[in-house]
Amino acid sequence: MSLSEFDIIEQFFRRPPRRNDVVLGIGDDAALLEVPQGQLLVSAVDTLVAGRHFPPQADPFDIGYKSLAVNLSDLAAMGAMPAWATLALTLPQATDDWLEAFAGGFFGLAREHGVELVGGDTTRGPLSVSVQLQGFVEPQRVLRRAGARPGQAILVSGTPGDAAWALKQWQAGQAVDPLLLQRLNRPQPRVALGRSLGGVATAAIDVSDGLLADLGHLLAASGCAATLWIERLPRSAALAVHAFDDTLAYQLGGGDDYELCFTVDFSRLDEVAELARQAGTTVTEIGRVEEGTGIRCLHEDGRRYRPERVGFDHFGPQEAP
Ligand code: ADP
Ligand code: MG
Repeated sequence: MSLSEFDIIEQFFRRPPRRNDVVLGIGDDAALLEVPQGQLLVSAVDTLVAGRHFPPQADPFDIGYKSLAVNLSDLAAMGAMPAWATLALTLPQATDDWLEAFAGGFFGLAREHGVELVGGDTTRGPLSVSVQLQGFVEPQRVLRRAGARPGQAILVSGTPGDAAWALKQWQAGQAVDPLLLQRLNRPQPRVALGRSLGGVATAAIDVSDGLLADLGHLLAASGCAATLWIERLPRSAALAVHAFDDTLAYQLGGGDDYELCFTVDFSRLDEVAELARQAGTTVTEIGRVEEGTGIRCLHEDGRRYRPERVGFDHFGPQEAP
């Protein structure tokens, strides 16, 4: 590496302290952090590997942004407040330009969410970025996958399918709508929405591997089934210019949405609409929790729709990113 490991940390990753619950940040053998009284520590980690989650030549700003965004999304789905991150960075070579852009993407989003980078690890090897994010949540505001009950409404935030559609167009060498590309490369983690749903939603999950796959995990954890009304799936204007039948598979099965899918009692739907408005995120009722197992997709007229592909599985049939 042209830059030493020490130089990289000092130049790009050590920043002025920004949280007073960080007793000791970057620079010692480990960080010392103060968890607020009466709250639970919430911890998530996600790894992005070049060639798997992004093309090796991807914009380093986007890689930095997304490596934090995917973890923020996990904390949002737990109803948690993000606080501290650690970063394990493996790089084939260290260039100023790459690191500058990467740090720009990472710290821009970190600032928005009040997150401080408190440590990490820097090694040489094939490009891979692993971010661990910690935060906290009041025990009574935890959102879990288990908790959905038959009769409850199923909602989703934002407009699923945008990111997967953008990826498909990009892979096919087609011109990609800039709004859709933004949704793929700079997803907005729904942290404010997740915070406000605490104690209101009965179950929640973030949609990273596709709506059907992730809703399926929520239902399995809750021991329930669901009906989805496919014409109700919220579609972005950019997606809606394409044929419904073409985009549907991407809305149901495409990954990388980073939206929240959650369940609530019907009696609280108005309250949820108001909370979502305050959080600046749209939410749409797309189905109902039922007794049994599995997900039944229905057209408006009651006809059954059978999706071909359920979601992304890293150990399933291989597909290059
Ligand atoms: P050690 O050998 O004890 O693991 P390191 O040299 O790996 O120490 O790290 C020194 C300090 O720099 C530690 O506080 C560590 O958390 C921090 N650090 C290392 N790499 C990064 C990184 N990529 N981002 C943020 N902090 C880092
Ligand atoms: Mg180390």
